[in-house]
Amino acid sequence: MEKKVRVRFAPSPTGGLHLGGVRTALFNYLFARQHNGTFILRVEDTDQTRFVAGAEEYIVSCLEWCGMMPDESPQNGGSFGPYRQSERKATYKQYADQLIADGYAYYAFDTPEELEAKRKEVPNFTYGQATRAGMRNSLTLPESEVAALLASQTPYAVRIKMPADELVSFTDLIRGHVSFDTNLVDDKVLLKADGMPTYHLAVVADDRAMEISHIFRGEEWLPSAPIHILLWRYLGWADEMPQWIHLPLILKPDGNGKLSKRDGDRLGFPVYAQNWTDPKTGDLTQGFKELGFMPEAFVNLLAMLGWNDGTDQELFTMTELINKFSVERISKAGAKFDFEKAKWYNHEWIKGADAGTLLPAVKAVFARQGITTGDDAGLEKVIDLIKDRCSLLTDFVQQGGYFFNVPAAYDLDAVKPKWTAEKATFFKAYSELISDAASPAELEEKFKDLAASHGFKPGELMLPFRIMLVGGKFGPGVFEIAIALGALESIQRIDKAMVAFGE
Ligand code: GLU
Repeated sequence: MEKKVRVRFAPSPTGGLHLGGVRTALFNYLFARQHNGTFILRVEDTDQTRFVAGAEEYIVSCLEWCGMMPDESPQNGGSFGPYRQSERKATYKQYADQLIADGYAYYAFDTPEELEAKRKEVPNFTYGQATRAGMRNSLTLPESEVAALLASQTPYAVRIKMPADELVSFTDLIRGHVSFDTNLVDDKVLLKADGMPTYHLAVVADDRAMEISHIFRGEEWLPSAPIHILLWRYLGWADEMPQWIHLPLILKPDGNGKLSKRDGDRLGFPVYAQNWTDPKTGDLTQGFKELGFMPEAFVNLLAMLGWNDGTDQELFTMTELINKFSVERISKAGAKFDFEKAKWYNHEWIKGADAGTLLPAVKAVFARQGITTGDDAGLEKVIDLIKDRCSLLTDFVQQGGYFFNVPAAYDLDAVKPKWTAEKATFFKAYSELISDAASPAELEEKFKDLAASHGFKPGELMLPFRIMLVGGKFGPGVFEIAIALGALESIQRIDKAMVAFGE
């Protein structure tokens, strides 16, 4: 019988959530949903030196924003808990003991100072086959001394004993047959002096305990795979081993290496899903959400970083992604991150969304700028008028602020040189014709007729009219703006602007 699909997103709570992490979560989520499986959030917090308070809550909030809530997690529980590795501490030591008893691991008593000295002495020192004989461990010390050291509670680490001259091979569902020479892998620590497992031991123990069927994770973990595979075998679990799927890296825009947060800072785009404030320094890093991305667009663009459905289709809803996702169509090659393309996705999603869907987010964006937007029906009309012009939700403020506030300044250079008393006369007369009941087409017709009777081409008057209402040379159709503003407001704006134009 096929194993039930159980997949996990296993972040370490060390800070902001990188978009690569969100993509890993997404591919896990899509695969789980497609196979009626279970999507698990497991918090890998065994490295206490890297633990950052608040990071777990932040990760959960990012998943929630993306609409990828886990079925089992520290917050929701589940029958395979606890879901924080720090709370599973007691379960790991038995495996380290078992590995030592079976000759697959050993005690290493080298102090941090000794290791440091070694690193200084030997360039590129690694603890492994070539060096372990010269270190203080249970392979080199007499048995009686090892027993005495253990009895006196001397701190120790447990290290895996990498076998010599073996080829560890496995199938990766994206990469096919992969193999590693064990001579090139060092003796990684499995259990640390503080009794905490390292990632290597914990990940294997927990993937087995949680009955994980498929491991989707970033390509940066590929070099660790031989260690994990050996542990699955050494612990006697080879038959239960999950399928491996190492996802392609997300690369810098120029394709040179993995995209880092620093690249985002340098090139002026976000890398984290949501705003992240470092609790130690107080530094705020802006996220996609706060910059004005719709979660649907964010999910869509992440899915396309390393995957496509084999057609030219680029826009997908979450439901479509769940239906169409396939591991076979994930590429081996890294995916370049292109922020302009990311904005294109968001623009498409904004354009395609109806005003009611956009309303809460747009309202919040205006509120953050201290702009009151009046009743929802009015704001929805504004959204419909300007959404085609917005790539980010935050663009609504720049593109639509004038609907709610009288322009604070006018683009006078565009009007004043050609402003005449005759034009002022025209606008005074036109003010009388503006009424709430009219449609944009009617307002336009009146404008044109009146222009003709005053001896103007309508084109000479359109720009001043726009600048009166908007302040600048942008926005949707000027008669649509006038209708949305209402007759009274439009007339007042004409009066006010004419003073400025005439000065
Ligand atoms: N805790 C690892 C990380 O932070 C997870 C790697 C894995 O999924 O095995 O990325």
